[in-house]
Amino acid sequence: MIIENLTQVKEAISVSMDKRSSALSSDAVELIAVTKNHAVDAMREAIDAGVTSIGENRVQEAKRKAAQLNRKAQWHLIGHLQTNKVKQAVRLFDLIHSVDSGKLAAEIDRAAKEAGKVQDILLQVNIAREESKFGISREETMPLAEEIGSLAHVRLRGLMMIAPHCDDAEMTRPLFREMYALFMKLQEMHTRRSDIQYLSMGMSNDYRIAIEEGANMVRIGTGIFGQRSY
Ligand SMILES: *Cc1c(COP(=O)(O)O)cnc(C)c1O
Repeated sequence: MIIENLTQVKEAISVSMDKRSSALSSDAVELIAVTKNHAVDAMREAIDAGVTSIGENRVQEAKRKAAQLNRKAQWHLIGHLQTNKVKQAVRLFDLIHSVDSGKLAAEIDRAAKEAGKVQDILLQVNIAREESKFGISREETMPLAEEIGSLAHVRLRGLMMIAPHCDDAEMTRPLFREMYALFMKLQEMHTRRSDIQYLSMGMSNDYRIAIEEGANMVRIGTGIFGQRSY
């Protein structure tokens, strides 16, 4: 089932890329297979079928799975990161999507220095200002990006957003559009602008629209692995 699903998702990604307006960047789309609450066997199957990037929400779960996986993959942390898990997160993850404060970025900088690495991160933007979600506001984005620019062991690579859940994903199109505009602004204004490359938005129910509006990184769980049993 995973192989068939992957084929369909990849096909849908390429259809959506073709629908992008010519005013948008024509970036390729990186598929992140979100494996939270799925077994290591399913992860192996996905990787053997061509998946190169894995997304996990929790540091503990990722650590346990990484020890059993026996496969190479890029690891993406897409869930909220608590400061007491930063050390482990820095050891494990290639890209942390969920940075939402200067304090957390500084903590990551410290841990990355200790680990002898430069940690790639994204800023999570709560563009719809949902009470229930983590993330900074649109207005906080540029100042925080500049603040992070001074950290030697953190490299800001772009932005991430989680769209509100809507039965009709069309409803979220204006939010994706807003995120793309913010991403472009960051790419223009940031002191290390060439680092700014990733716009992570789009999940199983809305990735097609996110890609049409300029996403170049999508995070898909259910669409590849089926429903999670929580
Ligand atoms: C769970 C999760 C996903 C994947 O969601 P699906 O609807 O299963 O595709 C993507 N991004 C984040 C931040 C998530 O927590």
